[in-house]
Amino acid sequence: MQALTISDRIKGMAVSATLAMSQKSSELRAAGVDVINLSVGEPDFDTPEHIKEAAKRAIDENFTHYPPVPGYMDLRKAISRKLKEENGVDMAPEQVVVSAGAKHSLSNVIYALINPGDEVVIPTPAWVSYVEMVKLAGGVNVLVPAGIEQDFKVTPAQLEAAITERTRMVLLCSPSNPSGSVYTRAELQGLVDVLKKYPQIAILSDEIYEHINYGAEFASLGSFPEVAGRVIIVNGVSKAYAMTGWRIGFMAGPLEVAKAVNKLQGQTTSGISTIAQKAAVAAYDGPQECVAEMLEAFRRRRDLVVSLARRIPGLKVNEPQGAFYLFPDVSAYLGKQYGGKVISTDDDLAMYLLEEAHVATVSGSAFCLPGYIRLSYAASDDSLREAFARIEAALAKLV
Ligand code: PMP
Ligand code: GLU
Repeated sequence: MQALTISDRIKGMAVSATLAMSQKSSELRAAGVDVINLSVGEPDFDTPEHIKEAAKRAIDENFTHYPPVPGYMDLRKAISRKLKEENGVDMAPEQVVVSAGAKHSLSNVIYALINPGDEVVIPTPAWVSYVEMVKLAGGVNVLVPAGIEQDFKVTPAQLEAAITERTRMVLLCSPSNPSGSVYTRAELQGLVDVLKKYPQIAILSDEIYEHINYGAEFASLGSFPEVAGRVIIVNGVSKAYAMTGWRIGFMAGPLEVAKAVNKLQGQTTSGISTIAQKAAVAAYDGPQECVAEMLEAFRRRRDLVVSLARRIPGLKVNEPQGAFYLFPDVSAYLGKQYGGKVISTDDDLAMYLLEEAHVATVSGSAFCLPGYIRLSYAASDDSLREAFARIEAALAKLV
């Protein structure tokens, strides 16, 4: 039988490297290999009890019919309140659309705003999915590299140099996946001072790691009055409340963008899981101690992995101020070899670490910044210690 033809738009799309690496390590594990999976970024905690209880109640109370396309009003109100109280951002519930995770919200917003040929400025390293979403919408990625020597943060001058008359969007992520860097309010102000000169540019702010922040107070781009009317915030419950599997995220932005996303969502999904939405209401409106407890565990592990990684000769390591990733510069190991096989790229190195050390990581290239690897430290202290011992031993074999 003749194989069906896959569309060019999907053929031209890269596979999500984070999910692919995680899948590969699960397969190896199923085959009996003792793999430590530091590839995918998700909290290793379970969802707090009071959130799970709310979901069970939602089933018993028959929240089992189609929900409103943009989300239940109680959830949109809870998000609107959260944005006001925690972030100093004014967004009416009508400006909020709930989607199946922050990933879905990001892709909805990009689809709603980007025409073919429009340029989207993205500082790199950047999370694997941004560039593929922009490509899918026909947009053009304009990447602005910011390496470890500048703590992975773009400067206002770099941002301004990347802007052209075709720029329609700037996509920022702080705290950052994969670097863990967090822009201070003063640093964001510097970027805002550039962006306020270009009123045609939408500012898409991925704030999913807001609560996993060890340093200065988190600042939302939506709280800068000079640009507030064209900031679209994306956030959700996946990371802060250990709810990756529930698939609830949101966008909050100008009413016309919310309406466009609502229209798109009305044709492509019929609203988001009712039960997960009710669980998310409990996450936002319920006790918040769980967030602080998880943060403390992540902070301890951050300190642990930074000290373990700094002991490994040749690795350049910054001290991440947020998220749960370490993004060391591994370029000292590129060009070396083991058993006659040359490790030319960071992709080769990630594969070598998987095969030789049985530690799954993701290459910097997947985040559009070659020469690095990403390790997620959302794992137990013991497995982190073991993983770094294995990595150190495997790297020492390279000549
Ligand atoms: N943005 C970033 C930077 C992420 O790392 C992730 C990871 N999941 C997402 C968005 C998507 O989150 P969600 O699980 O809510 O779709
Ligand atoms: N955001 C996580 C990561 O970067 C989860 C996987 C994904 O959705 O890409 O590993």
